[in-house]
Amino acid sequence: MKLLYEEIDKIAMNQPDTVVYFGAEQHTYRELKEQSDQLAHYFLTTLSNREPIVVYGGQEFEMLVAFLAAMKSGHPYIPIETNTPEERIALILDVAKPTLFLCVNRHPAVEVPCPVVAFNQIKTSHLKQEAAILDGLTLDETVYIIFTSGTTGIPKGVQISQRNLWSFVHWSLKELSIREGDCFLSQAPFSFDLSVMSVYPALLSGGALVPIEKEIVDDFKALFTLLPTLPMNVWVSTPSFMDICLMEPSFSEKELPNLRLFLFCGEELTKETAQKLLQRFPQALIYNTYGPTEATVAVSQIQVTSELLQKVDRIPIGYVKKDTTVSIMADNQLLAPGEIGEIVLSGPSISKGYLNNPAKTEAAFFPLNGQPAYRTGDAGKLMADGLLCYEGRMDFQVKLHGYRIELEDIEHHLMTISYIKQAIVVPKYKQHKVQQLVAFVVVTQNPFEKEYELAKAIRQELAETVMDYMIPQKFLFPEQLPRTVNGKIDRKRLMQEVNPS
Ligand code: AMP
Repeated sequence: MKLLYEEIDKIAMNQPDTVVYFGAEQHTYRELKEQSDQLAHYFLTTLSNREPIVVYGGQEFEMLVAFLAAMKSGHPYIPIETNTPEERIALILDVAKPTLFLCVNRHPAVEVPCPVVAFNQIKTSHLKQEAAILDGLTLDETVYIIFTSGTTGIPKGVQISQRNLWSFVHWSLKELSIREGDCFLSQAPFSFDLSVMSVYPALLSGGALVPIEKEIVDDFKALFTLLPTLPMNVWVSTPSFMDICLMEPSFSEKELPNLRLFLFCGEELTKETAQKLLQRFPQALIYNTYGPTEATVAVSQIQVTSELLQKVDRIPIGYVKKDTTVSIMADNQLLAPGEIGEIVLSGPSISKGYLNNPAKTEAAFFPLNGQPAYRTGDAGKLMADGLLCYEGRMDFQVKLHGYRIELEDIEHHLMTISYIKQAIVVPKYKQHKVQQLVAFVVVTQNPFEKEYELAKAIRQELAETVMDYMIPQKFLFPEQLPRTVNGKIDRKRLMQEVNPS
């Protein structure tokens, strides 16, 4: 098996003038190859180690150049989105100890413990026509490290290798009805592994990316104006982003006749969303895919048709890729088909673990029948015909708008606020999907007279340490939290309070 960039370079040499990026400006495969070769040369001549490189930016073409250049020079890359709070960046840097911080659009406001360099600065002052690639790279090389929410408040860096990524790419190109030259929506931030479902299937099939920047996603008017102008064939998003798009009545096959394939991942795809989408795009193919970042994007798929929707109450997460084994386990025992237990995945797309975090790695990863395995923390059942069904989480991890959040991560950061004595965050559900996060907060003496002032102050302080999607929508201020007979905080009761059945 070749290295990923070798295959992408081959495509670039065969079809240099094909557009690979349809943004405000267009870029070709030739530019992608030339610029990534040159940037790799810069990395190889200025960096004397193989440590990770942070790539800080939005959905720009230069991000792709940097990813490939990192790969060619034997450095893992860590994508960080520009709107990440400074303290969160500081926590990531503390774990990752990168060798370089490459800024694609702006510099971070946080102090960075390694050289910080702007992409444009390298481009104008350093890049020559020279190209360089490190010899001797193997399939075990880490390609990227994606940071996810961690229960202790410290983000966990999932390391994904060439081998892991190939396993995902081969499967996606074979099983998801992707065609050569397809144009993929690139909306998910690169710091979220859903973005990998656009980037590498596109780059390894001679296709292109069609970016939407975060500012547009956050501005409905601009979003709905832009959408019908985009040259997409393949849609990749969370179901939550689709729910937003479906609010616009003109988002339909008539406006977007070239859009023929919808790929969803990252959270529950509800029947309601799928039904609406099938009405708007009756000709299109829709796939529900499932997988954690630790198993490289997605490991299972099912095509969602009207017939399937008539048959099921909840959309299954599909059939697992051939190179991967699903084991449904409880107390380390394998359960029988149809029984509900933890989904354990094993195979070549399982990560080697969390960067510089042996304790968390050991807790979640283990060898199973000679393959690397990962305990997902997802509850599920495997039917006799191999169909996998999702039954929710076994812990306090949730998905809100497709973003992965450890509730304990939010609680940890709430507790660092001086006047907060205790904090518990509880999800409010509708149709198996989290609608909002409700924080129960016990406070001590504080200068705020009204509860809304208190909530506002907490929100502001929390925004400095957690991502915006982790800030609870609702704050409640009880005198104390309910306790179980063992004296532990009674989360179950709070859950029932927020979700009365
Ligand atoms: P992430 O690592 O951000 O991709 O999040 C992985 C988690 O998202 C999984 O462990 C599941 O809990 C959830 N998830 C991913 N895909 C699906 C899906 N199709 N249906 C339900 N939950 C999903």
